[in-house]
Amino acid sequence: MKPTIQFKRNTRSVFFHITTQCNLSCKHCYIDPAQHGSGAIPVETAIKWLDLLKKDNTDLVFLGGEPTLHPDLHTFIKFARKIGYRSITVDTNGYLFCNILDKVTTTEVDFFSFSLDGPNPQINDRIRGKGAFEHCIKGIYDARRKGFSVSLIYTVSAMNINALHIMPSLISTLDIQKFFIQIIGIRGKSAQLKDKRDLQVSYQDWKTHVPPVAKEVAALGIPVTYPKVFLEPEDTFECAGRVSEHYFVFPNGRVYQCPLCEDYPIHSFQIIEKKLSPMPPINERQLFQLDIPEGCVMNKLIQPGNISYDTSGRPNHQIACCLLKTNVKNEERDVVFDNAIIFFE
Ligand code: SF4
Ligand code: SF4
Repeated sequence: MKPTIQFKRNTRSVFFHITTQCNLSCKHCYIDPAQHGSGAIPVETAIKWLDLLKKDNTDLVFLGGEPTLHPDLHTFIKFARKIGYRSITVDTNGYLFCNILDKVTTTEVDFFSFSLDGPNPQINDRIRGKGAFEHCIKGIYDARRKGFSVSLIYTVSAMNINALHIMPSLISTLDIQKFFIQIIGIRGKSAQLKDKRDLQVSYQDWKTHVPPVAKEVAALGIPVTYPKVFLEPEDTFECAGRVSEHYFVFPNGRVYQCPLCEDYPIHSFQIIEKKLSPMPPINERQLFQLDIPEGCVMNKLIQPGNISYDTSGRPNHQIACCLLKTNVKNEERDVVFDNAIIFFE
């Protein structure tokens, strides 16, 4: 493995939650209307915010809730393309409401990104709800039939990590262009569960399951991205909140820089009128400045179940910034691992 590279400077990633409404009720959903607002963002507001948040080299992801439930998603996509966002992705649970595939074109959307948390209905639907697997697979087929590029996101937790090894055989039957392995965050509904520590994955489980599956899928010619999670001794810890521009925007105007902070009213900015207004202390920016032996300070505060210590009390592995990803691709028959920041959550 190459040593961790730094987060890219001079780029911006905007994760725009255009609604908190959803047709599903996944066990690990992080949306909390009390913190993020309820319902869909009005059209004029979304247009203003899209304009406000764009600068050169800005990547945009529409999410929710389920963003395709917003009847004006297509308007937002067209506007974002017109004003020059570098890439546009729509995250979806696969139900693809409001005939979205008929209202936008392949030049307007770079990727439809589908969430699937199991290789079969038994595993996926236990987490995401009955019928979710079937709808997701159908959505992928529909999007591909219309020529859209498609990615798939599998959120790993203790509920499904043992089934990850089945994904390559499912993926080999699907015509997808990217595969993302994500890791559960103990926030939103996961943070309310009694046995929440049991959802987290240990270093050993992560190492055993994730890189080999990534390698197998990359060997099929499909690039894979997964969070680094555990740093090795040669890696350098860096908090994205200190050095890069990631904006997680919610319908109530809160703008976070770190997804792990989203359960709390400690957002960096609030959109007021047509301005990104910095919030007074204490907010997440003060937390980003703390250097601790465990690496990510928010990981230590809200989900320390993945940290282990040696007999002298030192952490066995620092926990990486949750925004640091490893990319795996098949280059001239060699599978290459590379660490980089990318724009998907
Ligand atoms: S599909 Fe997404 S927004 Fe909807 S309940 Fe599941 S995790 Fe939450
Ligand atoms: S996940 Fe941790 S390291 Fe990354 S931005 Fe948040 S606090 Fe910083």
